[in-house]
Amino acid sequence: MSDGGVDDLMLRFTASTVAGQNLPIYIEGAWKPARSGQTIASYDPTTGSPWYQAADAGAGDVDDAVNAAGRAFADANWRGLTQTRRAGLMFALADLISRHAEELARLETRDNGKLFRETHAQIGYLADYYRYFAGIADKIQGDTIPVNKPQMLNFTVREPLGVVGIIVPWNSPLNTMSVTVAPCLAVGNTVVVKPSEHTSASAIAFAELVAEAGFPDGVYNVVSGCGRTAGEALARHPGISKIAFTGSTQTGRAIAQSAASHLAQANLELGGKSPHVVFEDADLGRAANGVVAGVFAAAGQTCVAGSRCFVHASVHDEMIDRLETLTGQIRVGDPMADDTQVGPLALRAQLEKVEQYVGYGTEDGARLVTGGCRPDDAGLEGGWYYRPTLFAGVSNDMRIARDEIFGPVAGVIKFSDEDDLLAQANDTDYGLAAGIWTRDVDRAMRFAHAVDAGTVWINTYRSAAMMSPMGGFKDSGYGKHNGFEAVRDYSRLKNVVLDYSGSAQDAFVIRLK
Ligand code: NAD
Repeated sequence: MSDGGVDDLMLRFTASTVAGQNLPIYIEGAWKPARSGQTIASYDPTTGSPWYQAADAGAGDVDDAVNAAGRAFADANWRGLTQTRRAGLMFALADLISRHAEELARLETRDNGKLFRETHAQIGYLADYYRYFAGIADKIQGDTIPVNKPQMLNFTVREPLGVVGIIVPWNSPLNTMSVTVAPCLAVGNTVVVKPSEHTSASAIAFAELVAEAGFPDGVYNVVSGCGRTAGEALARHPGISKIAFTGSTQTGRAIAQSAASHLAQANLELGGKSPHVVFEDADLGRAANGVVAGVFAAAGQTCVAGSRCFVHASVHDEMIDRLETLTGQIRVGDPMADDTQVGPLALRAQLEKVEQYVGYGTEDGARLVTGGCRPDDAGLEGGWYYRPTLFAGVSNDMRIARDEIFGPVAGVIKFSDEDDLLAQANDTDYGLAAGIWTRDVDRAMRFAHAVDAGTVWINTYRSAAMMSPMGGFKDSGYGKHNGFEAVRDYSRLKNVVLDYSGSAQDAFVIRLK
């Protein structure tokens, strides 16, 4: 901590200081370039121009980071800390996040084009996220088990796993890495973070806060680099006990195989194609608002985007009118401006994918209701902007209904029968989230029980809470983040048995009673 206290910290990596710079990696408390000296350009989505270079770490750098994290895990400076002291470090980190939320949010908005209003709120929330897990740190306990043997004490203890590797996508970098970093620190693990090669800056900047909070060197390490090199080297490294991955299903499969090569556990938070259902008895105004926010927020680049919108036939035309109006009014523009509602897509490749899928929608026979083009507003020419796009007349077998687009594209599917709706809602490879709008509580509960989704929202959508376990089924992955489920996911359970009878047993017969 600096002499003048945490208030004095001037962040070294901010949106203005990193522009045009080469960013380092962060291993064992030291900033360094990648061993190869290679870098990867990161682009500003509002202009399409490169704005900094991230270090392109390779297998050697990953090896250094995992070894450093392994040493930190074994070191008394971390392993020997009481859980209360560990919590204290996390509270200090949370305060630093609060103080620097605006700078971190500017950095992320510049990196991936997400609205500053949203990144700022999200990073403010992140401080509470670390506080929540700091509060858990000294409440992680096992059970005493009443076994059917006299004079035996049988109990469990929860222990840290060791080094956890964390591989992060580009859509919400700090948030996505923190759903693993926070429970890992609470439990006493050490971490190596591999951010997306497109958005490395905030994970690097975060290292300054971790150091300033007083965490020992090596507890938090960052290696920026590409998936096929740094990412794969991390997942395959025998020094990690677990790999936490958030990203696409295709990459998730590769990572599960890499982890399996050395029997590391994996936690996979993957893609989605979530059904968002509107019944005839819903409050249609609220439902329309929920559908629009549920798919177009963050330019559709959220894993839980409700991109398959099922609407009951009796209110279908009215809902299409409402959705058309709301979608057509969305203000697309500069993500730093207060009145912007949808910013650019984060990557050029993502914009191209959206354009390709809008083409598929028309080719497959859906009716374009609104959007379907880039905006022609002055000032947006160079950026990766796309108008929120709504299709009607969609069927569940069309490509826009089957594949995760991860962009501002929604399709409305008409239904008239509840059983048929359920069959269609579950007729997808994914199982991340689902939403339903209805005033009929019996129907809502029937849907909640029957739908194959890790999270079900009723008369709300995209409502997240740090206490609320989140994670998908089917091709959306496995493992949970948030709440005590995350503590279980990032710890291991040990059973200890003590015989206090003082008597000798038959040495060759296992004691069953
Ligand atoms: P991606 O799978 O392309 O990349 C994610 C990360 O994996 C990046 O850091 C990348 O460098 C790395 N990577 C790529 N190939 C790798 C390999 N072979 N081995 C190891 N690492 C590798 O995903 P993306 O395009 O960055 O993110 C978008 C995807 O993330 C979408 O499918 C979205 O649904 C998903 N996502 C899911 C959640 C969730 O909580 N379920 C949250 C956000 C995003």
